[in-house]
Parts: sequence; structure tokens; C-alpha cells
Amino acid sequence: MMNTNGNPAAAHDDYVDVIVLGVGTCGEDLSLQLLDAGLDVVGIEAALVGGTCPFYGCLPSKMMVRGANLLKEADRVNGMSGQARTSSDWNQTAGRVRQLTGGWNDAGAVERYEKRGGRLIHGKGKLTGPRTVTVGDKSFTARKGVVVATGAKPVIPPVPGLDKVKYWTTDDIIEADSLPESIVILGGGGAGCELGQVLARFGVRVTIVVRGDRLLRVEEPEASEIVEKAFADDGIKVHKGVKIKEVELRGSSIITRLDGGVELSSERLVLATGRKPDLTNLGLESAGLDSSAKFIEVDERMRAADGVWAMGDVTGKAMLTHVALYQSAIIAADILGKVHPPAEYHSVPQVTFTDPEVGSVGLTESAAREAGFDVAVVTKQIAATFRGMLHGISGGVIKLIADRRTGTLVGATAVGPPGGEILGLLTLAVHARIPISKLRSMIYSFPTFTGGIGEAIGAYGRGVTTVLDPEYTGLKELDELIEALGA
Ligand SMILES: Cc1cc2nc3c(=O)[nH]c(=O)nc-3n(C[C@H](O)[C@H](O)[C@H](O)COP(=O)(O)OP(=O)(O)OC[C@H]3O[C@@H](n4cnc5c(N)ncnc54)[C@H](O)[C@@H]3O)c2cc1C
Repeated sequence: MMNTNGNPAAAHDDYVDVIVLGVGTCGEDLSLQLLDAGLDVVGIEAALVGGTCPFYGCLPSKMMVRGANLLKEADRVNGMSGQARTSSDWNQTAGRVRQLTGGWNDAGAVERYEKRGGRLIHGKGKLTGPRTVTVGDKSFTARKGVVVATGAKPVIPPVPGLDKVKYWTTDDIIEADSLPESIVILGGGGAGCELGQVLARFGVRVTIVVRGDRLLRVEEPEASEIVEKAFADDGIKVHKGVKIKEVELRGSSIITRLDGGVELSSERLVLATGRKPDLTNLGLESAGLDSSAKFIEVDERMRAADGVWAMGDVTGKAMLTHVALYQSAIIAADILGKVHPPAEYHSVPQVTFTDPEVGSVGLTESAAREAGFDVAVVTKQIAATFRGMLHGISGGVIKLIADRRTGTLVGATAVGPPGGEILGLLTLAVHARIPISKLRSMIYSFPTFTGGIGEAIGAYGRGVTTVLDPEYTGLKELDELIEALGA
């Protein structure tokens, strides 16, 4: 018997080259790479092949962001170039999302998997031996190894009364055919902020409650401040630095009581309190791994134990699709005996797709100081760059964190209409540890948002940029740094 790649299939049905446990975002990606290389692969998936990213994460949420931002962008005509009046229609956006996800159906992905020669078993699998996975009454043993890619689940916080109300997670927003009149979101991280702003722009009364003292607490404080201002403009109320005392159902409303006596009433309560892996039912101990750990520990080739690799959210490195896919490429190379640089995470980019977008890479200023770097910080308001001024934006910033010892960037943040796109160049700079003197000696296109980086570091227009921003001190800081290094 041959598989579709023309290679002999396993002698016994239960022996395969590789078992992929969890065929989600990176499980699917890795499987297809290995199948294309001619390996015999079995994938075991408890829910939808493709996982979070295409069905409940990045793609549908960003499709919603696009719909919401179009409404806002049309509003911006007023006072700039005429008058525009919009009226939102959630059905259109929800319809696009339904089309994207095929109505939350993975038939297409399953067909693709099987056409490439893979075997797919729907069900919950667990390790029952160092290289053996059992799903239902079937067991498979892998000649090369098992790859665990079981992702993460929403965290349900221990709020009194939560078990008595019907709350939503972000999954329910993604699937929503109609929107409630009002919503309280617990959590002010990326997903809560993105979806909160989407709903507000579709006319929902949105309140966000966070325990910490700001939204997007992993980002630079400047980024949080800009996003909070934008949220105020969208009519979103934010309660910061508060604990939730209890929640309760009153008639058809959910009452959220905060410490300090504040009481919020809403039609829906959404938990956006983060995600974490659940390692308890994966049989990890049969491969010598700790099932009480928070994440599966892996080395720089994503190996967790002899014949076991792990990748994606379950490794806790950075719960992002591009990190999961990066890890998948490393495992593919390791299994196929190809060369791939070891995993490194000093330049992981992250984008929160609020309007304005928050893009960041590497360390924040405080993280860099905590890590012991002697930092120089350059902060340039995007409104004071040429493109920012032309665009007519008020809130946006480029913040660069340089290491004085090496004269390279160890972190950067770009908040602005295309914050995630400006980030591309900054990610390269942090990743390749490009000296700032080198970044200064390249040519930036004018007038672009990315060119704002050039203006921030004094690559061009030293004379004219001071017209827009006479107070700007970043150039002096970097001049001193470069001079001190003799670069
Ligand atoms: C609302 C939202 C927005 C997001 N937006 C972005 C974004 O813009 N950019 C970005 O980079 N990231 C984003 N993410 C994060 C991104 O979706 C995840 O980091 C990524 O999908 C993780 O991939 P994964 O393969 O590790 O896990 P998943 O894609 O979740 O796959 C894990 C799979 O394992 C299966 N599974 C679990 N246990 C078992 C078992 N015992 N047996 C068999 N199968 C099992 C699950 O059913 C699942 O399909 C977002 C997430 C959310 C929730």
C-alpha cells in the first residue's frame, strides 16, 4: 500500500512515522510539511482541524476589526474632506466571518489533510507510552516521535457567582449572529481590547474591567495611554485597578459588582481573562513529563523528551500564531534532519489590532531595565512625523529601546494606524541586532509611517523634522550613544 506521496505506508496501521496530537494552527502546518516530505503522519484532533487561529482567533477577529475600522474611518471624513454618515450592520460582518470559517466546519481542512496523504482521527487523544497515543479504542505508535500541539483554553477566573450566570468567552463573540445592547468585558489584554472596540463601533455599550492599573499591561505605558484615549473616543468605559466582588443574574441583566461599591449592569458578560494550556489529561507522565506544570518545557529544537516535541501555545513561549508556526518549522527541520537555527525569542513581534494598532517587539523599557541593560530611550510622537501630520492623527508613538553597550535596539513599540506594519522594520532591527548607526545610514521612503523611524533616529531630515517637533530630544540621545561607541 502506498500513501499519496508514493511512499510505502506503514506495515501495520498502528505504526506511523509521526503522531501529531492536536491538529490546530501549528499541528496542521507541521503535518502538511511532514506529509509533503513523504512521512506517514497521523493527526489526532479533538475539535476543528486548523484550531484557534482560523476559527476563533486571529482571522475571524481581524475580519471583525476590519469591519469596525471601516465604520470609524468613514467617520474621519468629517472635518477632513466632506461629510459621511454610516450605519452599521453586524449581519454583514458576521456573514463574512461565517463564510471564512465555513460555518465553523473543518471539512475542507480534513479533505486537504487526507489528500496530502495524512490520516486524521477526530477525538481526544492522550499519550499512553513514550511514543504511543491512544484515541478512543485506537492506539498509534510513532517511529520518529509524537508532537504535542494541544493549544490553550480560556482562563475562567474564580469570581463568586460566575457559575450561575451564562457568560461568554471570546469564542462566543466570534460566533455571534446578533449583538447585545450592552456588554461588560473582564480583562484588558489584546483580545478583550480588540473585540471590545469592535463591539463599541457596532453600537454596543462596552465596559472593560481590569485588575491592573492600565489596559494592555504587557505593552509600554505610552501605548496603554493612547489606546485608553481612543477607547474614550469610542465611548468605551474602562474601570482600572479594581477587583470583581461577584456577579449575579437580575432579570435578564447580569450585575457585575466591583470592590468599592460600583455596580455594572449589562446584557452580556464576556471573559477575556487570558488563555492557558491544560496539561492534566494528556498522559504526559507516560513520556516522563510533568502534567502539573503550567507549560510543556522544550529545548531550542522544541524537544520535550526522547521522541516527544511540543509547539505552540502549550509551550507558553508567546501565545501567538507566528510563534507557533516558527516552532513548527523548527520541528519539521529536526524530524527531517534539515538545518534550522535553534529557537530564539529575543525578537518576538506582537500586534494588538486596536485602532490605533499597537505593535511591539523585544523588550519594553521597564523589562530592559529589569534585565540589566543600560538603556537609552527614544520616543517620537507619530503626529510629529511628516506622514502622521499629513494623516491628521493625534495619538501615535514610536518608542525605541537601545542598549548603550552594543548600540543596538533591544525593543521597540509603534502605535499608530499601521503600528503592526511599521513594526516589520523594527523587528528586523531587533532580530538581527542591527547597529543604530547602520539604521541611520539607510534610506527611508518619504513621507511614510516607516519613515517615521528614520525621523526618530535622525536618518534624514534632521533640519526639517525639527519644524514639526522642535522639542524632540531623541536625536541628541542617539548622537551621544553612537559617538560614545565610536560607530
Ligand atoms: C480572540 C483571539 C484572537 C487572536 N488573535 C491573534 C492574532 O491576531 N495574532 C496571533 O499571532 N495570534 C492570535 N491569537 C492567538 C493564536 O490564535 C494562538 O496562539 C494559536 O492559534 C495557537 O496555535 P496552537 O496550534 O498552539 O493551538 P490551537 O490552534 O488552539 O490548536 C490546538 C488544537 O489541539 C486540539 N486538542 C486539544 N487537546 C487535544 C487532545 N487531547 N486530543 C486531540 N486534540 C486536542 C484542540 O482542539 C485544538 O484544535 C488569538 C487568539 C484568540 C483567542
